[in-house]
Amino acid sequence: MDFSEWPKIELHLHLDCSLGFAVVNEFEPGITTADFQHRFTAPLKCQNLSDFLSRVEDSIQLLQTERALTAATLDLLAQLQSDNVIYAEIRFAPLLHTQQGLAAAEVVEIVSDALEKGINQTGVQAGLILCTLRNYSAGQSMETVQLVHRFRHRRVVGFDIAGDELAENPQIHEAAYAFARQHGIPCTAHAGEARGPESIWETLRYFQPQRIGHGVRCVEDPALVDYLVKNRIHLEVCPTSNVQTNVFATLADHTIDKLYRAGISLGINTDGRTMENVTLSEEYRRLHDCFGWGPGHFLRCNLDAVDAAFASEETKAGLREALFA
Ligand SMILES: [Zn+2]
Repeated sequence: MDFSEWPKIELHLHLDCSLGFAVVNEFEPGITTADFQHRFTAPLKCQNLSDFLSRVEDSIQLLQTERALTAATLDLLAQLQSDNVIYAEIRFAPLLHTQQGLAAAEVVEIVSDALEKGINQTGVQAGLILCTLRNYSAGQSMETVQLVHRFRHRRVVGFDIAGDELAENPQIHEAAYAFARQHGIPCTAHAGEARGPESIWETLRYFQPQRIGHGVRCVEDPALVDYLVKNRIHLEVCPTSNVQTNVFATLADHTIDKLYRAGISLGINTDGRTMENVTLSEEYRRLHDCFGWGPGHFLRCNLDAVDAAFASEETKAGLREALFA
């Protein structure tokens, strides 16, 4: 089955995990495809999330200039267009891109400008989510959420926490999420990936996000599944990424079909297109082959994702129309 023509929604997608070969080649002329794969993609199976995250370093190193950030953003929009993604939320941690003198606010401005241009070029609708990291300080998280507040008129739509789930305790970032709530900033949070249900409970308690990035180990706790269903907390599920970071041994062991049948709101995402070496069409094909998912499953996931998107009601109405077209 070919899913490339299907309209799709993607809410969980990291800019720094999606560097196309052409972009890298522009900045490192002569790089071979073998070297590119070695340095900018991760193996199909990493030991764990920490192992995976250690492999994003070369991508981060490259994304330190206006030219590179612009090229990567424009290229990602083109990738989304060819995958027939009609709406995407692209995330990155601005503070990671200040190693060669850019200020964090400049980083956001650059990516926001490039996104605007990419939207005009491709017709893909998109917003930006700014991430803090689990190992950041309270001050760094506050700085990041304040950037969301400051750039909301520039297509910045939400706040997230990413990075190694095993690191530090969540209370450090509580004030940043409280700031988000006070200012009506929509939030998501990575959780339930490297750790189980207790991490998701903790994340819900301290951060009160509308969505969870991954959350796929919630099935280990029926009370948590109930809570997610009742409160319509949306899970941004990234099946290939979860196998890659060894949350599950194989796709057949993935909980996505159980989550779907439990009635949890969920969507399908790549997490990153280069590091994970996958497109969203390919994710659909794998779910089709592995779990027998068909049009009804994918439509419900896309509609769930529209409901949970950090977009205006007007945008959402347009997306629903496009999904049913
Ligand atoms: Zn992620």
